[in-house]
Amino acid sequence: MMDPEKYATATVVSRRDPAPDLWIIRIHPQIELPYRPGQYVTLGLQSNGRVIERPYSICSSPLEGDIELFIERVPDGELSDPLFALGVGAELIVRKRTKGLFLRDTPLAAEPHLFVATVTGVAPFVSFLRTVASQVRAGEWTPLPVLLLQGAARSVELGYADELVALDQEFDWFTYVPTVSRPWEDPEWRGEWGRVEDIMRKYADAAGMHPGHGGVFLCGHPGMISGARAIMRRAGFDNKVIREEQYWPD
Ligand SMILES: Cc1cc2nc3c(=O)[nH]c(=O)nc-3n(C[C@H](O)[C@H](O)[C@H](O)COP(=O)(O)OP(=O)(O)OC[C@H]3O[C@@H](n4cnc5c(N)ncnc54)[C@H](O)[C@@H]3O)c2cc1C
Repeated sequence: MMDPEKYATATVVSRRDPAPDLWIIRIHPQIELPYRPGQYVTLGLQSNGRVIERPYSICSSPLEGDIELFIERVPDGELSDPLFALGVGAELIVRKRTKGLFLRDTPLAAEPHLFVATVTGVAPFVSFLRTVASQVRAGEWTPLPVLLLQGAARSVELGYADELVALDQEFDWFTYVPTVSRPWEDPEWRGEWGRVEDIMRKYADAAGMHPGHGGVFLCGHPGMISGARAIMRRAGFDNKVIREEQYWPD
């Protein structure tokens, strides 16, 4: 049964499916659920008298009313599979506390930010960017370089590409570079090819990042995280300036 001390309900208020098995929902919790960019919410569904729950990074900005999430359906996944069936108006369970320390020290003072994501790993960076974009537009934040690299198998999986390209065009401090690793399945694609790790050094170097100058933030697939960390370590970056949010164990 759902413990009302720990959990509240939330309603799905919108849904968009950028690609098969990838969807973006906005949920409206029945309680206040404060959070910072980089934090996650724990979603749940009841099954056979118990709550199945998993963490999901938040894409929306704390300045928005509802909570937005970008989710991948894992075949036969215990939670993501039944979650995928929920349409607008459906109810689910949320933990009453958001959590997570990823991005807690951003924006960095006087240093460029390198954000690296695989598919849904872009979520915390979207939350950060929406928040700082509002602050910059209001004259409340002095922009520092932010470079976001996002990898996916095919371009339809990028999910937030239109919004991120628009931010890249609006702000000269922000650069968005998507890359696809299966270009042969994506004949119209004209952007970067390969995994994010393959293009990371080239863009980090061009952005003027060097050891002692720049913070690295990695989010999503465990293979990308271990590969990207090793590349930045070989480039001389200290382990402690490389932060990560790994979505599942190696
Ligand atoms: C801090 C944090 C934030 C997260 N944020 C997101 C998010 O924003 N969006 C999102 O889609 N997921 C996110 N995840 C992953 C999410 O919590 C679940 O693990 C995922 O939805 C699978 O749960 P499941 O019950 O369907 O699969 P399970 O039945 O628990 O099976 C999971 C197994 O499937 C495999 N797997 C394959 N692809 C994936 C994948 N994309 N994610 C997880 N496991 C995979 C792994 O081997 C894993 O062990 C996050 C995880 C963490 C720890």
